[in-house]
Amino acid sequence: MSSMRDLYQETILDHGKSPRHHHVMEDANREAEGDNPLCGDQLTMYLKTDGELIEDVSFKGEGCAISQASASILTQVLPGRSREEARELADRFKEMLTRDEGPSFDPAELEKLQVFLGVRDFPTRVKCATLAWHTLEAALEGEERVVTTES
Ligand code: ZN
Repeated sequence: MSSMRDLYQETILDHGKSPRHHHVMEDANREAEGDNPLCGDQLTMYLKTDGELIEDVSFKGEGCAISQASASILTQVLPGRSREEARELADRFKEMLTRDEGPSFDPAELEKLQVFLGVRDFPTRVKCATLAWHTLEAALEGEERVVTTES
């Protein structure tokens, strides 16, 4: 019988093997690099924002299935959200994985992101899952880059 947990693992393995939006974004106006030396995960997040709105997200990087899957799913859930919503989501994602007593909310509210709930049971891998979100926050806080397109 296939349990919910198996489904979650399959989703993570699938995204880990073929991450979505895994490319450099030439016209990104924000980017940040993150690395997790504990595991050797490295990634760069690229964002295209218009004022408060996050229009597009991609990433490039190397690392374990969990770090790649986390970045991959992040790029799927963020476009169309505001920067404020993205920060809230980052906080909740981190809370889901790191709060001792468990999340103070129903993880199902995080929809796709709830597949990482099981990572709680592997404390050494929590940083793999949160790397993309820390890097996203750095990209949101950082200076906006002026993009010049050469023709
Ligand atoms: Zn890792």
